[in-house]
Amino acid sequence: VYRMGEIEVVALRDTSIDIHTGEMLTVIGPSGSGKSTLLNQIGGMDRPSSGEILYLGRNLAQASDVELTEYRRTQVGFIFQFYNLIPSLTAIENVQVAAEIVAEAMEPAEALRLVGLEDRASHFPAQLSGGEQQRVSIARALVSNPRLILCDEPTGALDLQTSKQILSLLLELKQSMRKTIVIITHNTAIATLGDRIAHIRDGGIYTIETNAYPQPVESVRW
Ligand code: ADP
Ligand code: MG
Repeated sequence: VYRMGEIEVVALRDTSIDIHTGEMLTVIGPSGSGKSTLLNQIGGMDRPSSGEILYLGRNLAQASDVELTEYRRTQVGFIFQFYNLIPSLTAIENVQVAAEIVAEAMEPAEALRLVGLEDRASHFPAQLSGGEQQRVSIARALVSNPRLILCDEPTGALDLQTSKQILSLLLELKQSMRKTIVIITHNTAIATLGDRIAHIRDGGIYTIETNAYPQPVESVRW
């Protein structure tokens, strides 16, 4: 529940879901249905007004600010629609910033290599295409070796072809690095890439489909 003075907005209600290690879970629902709120709770950016968020047996809803900061730094990589890169830092410096705040980070150059951007390391965000900026943000998410990758409309600002590249990259990370990935989207085609698809409406997950045959990325259409 968001409180703004007298007004209460119930963004999520009666929502319960288990997320499995190594799966790609997609969450689909219309604008305003509570998708970002859900992702921010899972990512420790916000605490719920009631309820529990259990991560490896720990209840994040009861965690202190220091514990939540540690959780975000070491366990979670975030990918946002508009990349959220620091404009005055180069690609590799953006990745370095994330590496510096954890004890056991990957080499920033290695993270850029994983997303195929080793030859763009010294470019500033403004000198990169949207798809390249999103790949830098994926490298930034990976550099701290998180178990969880949380993506909020990761292709929302990209054209079809570039979106497919980004989604292929995320699928590859799931397979080769056994990352657990949650992708929030309002696009049905993207949702069908998930191992499971959670449908959310008016702040509640009303059905979770197991996707026996996740669609190949090539089938994504707008
Ligand atoms: P989605 O990501 O599915 O578009 P959100 O989780 O952003 O939905 O929002 C769910 C509901 O909560 C919406 O009605 C939205 O207006 C409200 N909301 C989201 N963030 C805030 C906030 N910081 N303060 C007040 N209301 C908010
Ligand atoms: Mg949102």
